[in-house]
Amino acid sequence: MSSDKTYSFFQSVERSFDKAATFTKFEKGILEQIKACNSVYQMRFPIKRDDGSIEVIEAYRVQHSQHKTPCKGGIRFSDEVNQDEVMALASLMTYKCAIVNVPFGGGKGGIKINPRNYSVYELEKITRRYTAELVKKNFIGPGIDVPAPDYGTGAREMSWIVDTYQSLKPGEIDSAGCVTGKPVTQGGVRGRTEATGLGVFFGIREVCNMPAVMEKLGLQIGVKDKTVVVQGLGNVGYHSAKFFRENGSKVIALAEFEGAIMNPDGLNEEQVFQHRKATGSILNFPGATNLEKNTDALELECDILIPAALENVINGENAPRVKAKIIGEAANGPCTPEADEVFVQKGILCVPDMYLNAGGVTVSYFEWLKNLSHVRYGRMEKRFTENLNSHILSQMESLTGKQVGAGERAFIMHGPEEVDLVHSGLEETMITATREIMDIWNSNPNIPDMRTAAYVNAINKVGTSYGELGIFP
Ligand code: GLU
Repeated sequence: MSSDKTYSFFQSVERSFDKAATFTKFEKGILEQIKACNSVYQMRFPIKRDDGSIEVIEAYRVQHSQHKTPCKGGIRFSDEVNQDEVMALASLMTYKCAIVNVPFGGGKGGIKINPRNYSVYELEKITRRYTAELVKKNFIGPGIDVPAPDYGTGAREMSWIVDTYQSLKPGEIDSAGCVTGKPVTQGGVRGRTEATGLGVFFGIREVCNMPAVMEKLGLQIGVKDKTVVVQGLGNVGYHSAKFFRENGSKVIALAEFEGAIMNPDGLNEEQVFQHRKATGSILNFPGATNLEKNTDALELECDILIPAALENVINGENAPRVKAKIIGEAANGPCTPEADEVFVQKGILCVPDMYLNAGGVTVSYFEWLKNLSHVRYGRMEKRFTENLNSHILSQMESLTGKQVGAGERAFIMHGPEEVDLVHSGLEETMITATREIMDIWNSNPNIPDMRTAAYVNAINKVGTSYGELGIFP
């Protein structure tokens, strides 16, 4: 998949880590331990296909670090899955959780299948058997390792996982916390579906609100009127495009497997999504121009480029042709270390994956907390807050003799629902993480890019918690 053939995805994560490690104070041994993947479980199991044939499925779960437990990270279904990829993605999860102050170690799972080639019944059998294999080896559980959706999986697969887990562990009171990204009816949390895309938006908006950063890039402050290109119209790409559009940016191009479309006046992601559903292709969308290759979209003139598909799509070969001012890595690992070097030379700001796409795991953390506390967010305070607000409002009105307008009244009165609290928790998390990374970057002029600053932040946090644990005998 990569055109930078000299090293694998895991090695490229290691390279970025090593580059950042020189800016930290930890001794070599601690750095080696932070970097290592602690447990790698490769499994093979058979399933009976709908036509009666038996197929052996290859699958993985990697626990990169237990410096905090449980381990956390998604499960992907893709025929590109291999051990190296899952190890790389599990490592990124450790760093991602540390950066956004989510108290988990990193994990990741993968099943080497193209889900399009299987019936729903076959997918269910594969997912349930995979879960059973994890249970057998103690590789899943609310205090051990908690999977979530990733590329090719979603709420449906998570509901099969929780159901299988609960049937094998009857009476485990916190069992709903064995997986996140579940449907709300199965113990999920409102706001999880859009979480990664919303986190991408909050992160980029914070960067765009930093006067010094914008001045350096020659851009106006704020996301309003910025031109945006999004590669990938899956859950993350779709929601990133939606939040940019709703906040006044112009999504001028969208790309998928089959090609890309462009309209300088802006595209509506929902209309494009419906068009693709109806015609089977993103191409020939009314009013838009077709681009021959989907990768052409990556090279368009724009303010913000959001790669939201797979890893290694921007590499040493095509990075010199990228014209965006800001790259927001919504996918995991979309830019290679060679690409990073080109961006530094060209003055392009690459906002790195392992914090920018942390919205998913952040809201997973909220879901897990909800499962452990067995209560919906907002249940205890919503009515109290509304009563209090109503009281304050009527006091203000009687003291001033003036009435507040209907729209404003509804806003002031509103007590927080679960989705409000989840969105605001996510906003706070992304803003804090952006500022922490920028502070580290600003504090040392030798740190070449934001990815290195993010890694420095992650290494400091993980290394410190190893130190605090005093775990090495
Ligand atoms: N798969 C997502 C990620 O790569 C979410 C992981 C999670 O929620 O645990 O961050």
